[in-house]
Amino acid sequence: MFSKVLIANRGEIALRILRACHTLGLETVAVYSANDKDLRHVKLATSSICIGPAASSASYLNHEALLIAAKLTGADAVHPGYGFLSENSAFAEKVQDAGLTFIGPTAHSIREMGDKVAAKKAMLRAGVPCVPGSDGELPADPALITTIAEKIGYPVIVKASGGGGGRGMRIVRSAEQLASSVALTREEAQRAFGNAALYIEKYLQNPRHIEIQVLADQHGNAVWLGERDCSMQRRHQKVIEESPAPGVAREAIRRIGRICADACIKLGYRGAGTFEFLYEKGDFYFIEMNTRVQVEHPVTEMVTGVDIVAEQLRIAQGEPLSFSQESVVFTGHAIECRINAEHPEMFTPSPGLVRSWIAPGGPGIRVESHLYSGYTVPHNYDSMVAKIIAWGKTREEAINRMRVALEECEIDGIVTTIPLQLDLLQQTAFRQGGFTIQYLEKLLNKRALAEEEQHAG
Ligand code: ADP
Repeated sequence: MFSKVLIANRGEIALRILRACHTLGLETVAVYSANDKDLRHVKLATSSICIGPAASSASYLNHEALLIAAKLTGADAVHPGYGFLSENSAFAEKVQDAGLTFIGPTAHSIREMGDKVAAKKAMLRAGVPCVPGSDGELPADPALITTIAEKIGYPVIVKASGGGGGRGMRIVRSAEQLASSVALTREEAQRAFGNAALYIEKYLQNPRHIEIQVLADQHGNAVWLGERDCSMQRRHQKVIEESPAPGVAREAIRRIGRICADACIKLGYRGAGTFEFLYEKGDFYFIEMNTRVQVEHPVTEMVTGVDIVAEQLRIAQGEPLSFSQESVVFTGHAIECRINAEHPEMFTPSPGLVRSWIAPGGPGIRVESHLYSGYTVPHNYDSMVAKIIAWGKTREEAINRMRVALEECEIDGIVTTIPLQLDLLQQTAFRQGGFTIQYLEKLLNKRALAEEEQHAG
């Protein structure tokens, strides 16, 4: 049992965690970098403490500073949020060793799922369908690698076992490119993740990204909370997410959902988690598991009414899940737009002073943001400044509410991706639903080409 939660994060998710803690009557500790002392959650926390300079490596990623902060403030649990140390098994272990509760799965689960080769092996064992690929790590011998790729069939994708954030992947379309692509990816993987291990998968040419949210307690119970369609992606980064996934048979979701919940029980997984799948021609293919709360979790909360962060806290307290699978009811449709402080066409960062921020509202609109008028968006961290979530009885109602909310949004002083989001909401492909992960990149490329031609002409 714990009563004071240290929030090892910043921005909107820190505020989200703080709200869940206070709702459950738990005290909070906000930790902040020298840049972040005026963040909203720092003001609202039971206590707060500076953990270092602006650079995340010296503050939000600094294990020792966080552990000292917990000790000084009397915190007895740590919620890592997403990003930063949320999937760092060494940190989770240090938290446990210091006698504190890590709000998340065991260090073992985090390590296993963080190593994508190990994760796929575990999933295959647990009966989860995976993308066809190499049986584990690639050998060093180029001839053996060629045989593996040929058996899978081109195109293939070479991936780093320790990869994340859409990095450490390379598509290979023919045997001639294989050796050089493997060498390049290996070098990158070593440099970026300190782990040169690679694996190969069949490259699915036009899939959708559909993921399943799960919750599992420490008593052998697990539930699945439906799916999220996150196919609107740029550079493997999600731009818009929604639930349910348009046009996917409910029976297919129930089947894969049950497989995921069963896998949690078989693997001894606990806490919140997400099974990410590529979905093509009616089949699901596991790509990875995220062992933390995700940016897009509100979409699931809006259609199920489950407070995922509160459940994370209850599970970490050792409580059994407060509801059964049968009691989960899916109502209506929810969409999330990620608002980044970035140029909507060039995607260059746009930090700086927000002179005025007026959040949207109205029925079905939820805003998750740490913004306030007078806030300066620092250049040191992720560029996401707000998430707007719209719920409607139907998908159409959710889209229309989202459009009005985005139009209403006032963020004065910086540029954001709102114009891009508004534009995407109007596209026929989006309106119809069921577009694939290639859709946005193709649209942006087409526009860039048209622009070039116009200049040339
Ligand atoms: P990361 O941990 O870096 O996010 P993932 O394995 O989750 O890596 O893959 C991220 C994205 O890369 C996917 O959402 C998808 O767009 C693309 N991708 C990954 N594996 C494949 C594959 N086998 N075929 C096609 N696209 C893939």
